[in-house]
Amino acid sequence: MNSVACADCAGTGYRGRLAIAEIVRLDSRDPVGEALADTLQAGEPVQRMRAAARELGAVDLHDIAASYVERGVTDAAEVYRVLGNREQVSN
Ligand SMILES: [Zn+2]
Repeated sequence: MNSVACADCAGTGYRGRLAIAEIVRLDSRDPVGEALADTLQAGEPVQRMRAAARELGAVDLHDIAASYVERGVTDAAEVYRVLGNREQVSN
C-alpha cells in the first residue's frame, strides 16, 4: 500500500490517527513486568529488557505496527516515520 496525497487528506496521504500502545505492569502480577523490573533493577541495557519481554511473549510497538501494515491500515513509510527502525535505541 502506498499513500496518495489528495484534498481529502490535506496532501499528507493519510487520514485519521491510530493509537498503539504497550502497557506493562511492573510487578509480579505480570510475568513480562516482573522480568522488566528485574532487568531494570539489575541495570541491564534496554536491548536486554526487550529480549526478556519478547522471550515471554510480549508484543512491542513495532510488532503491533507491522500488523496494521499487513492489514492495510497504514503503510511502512508512516510506521518508519513515527517509530524509526526497530534497532534504534534512544538511550
Ligand atoms: Zn489523500
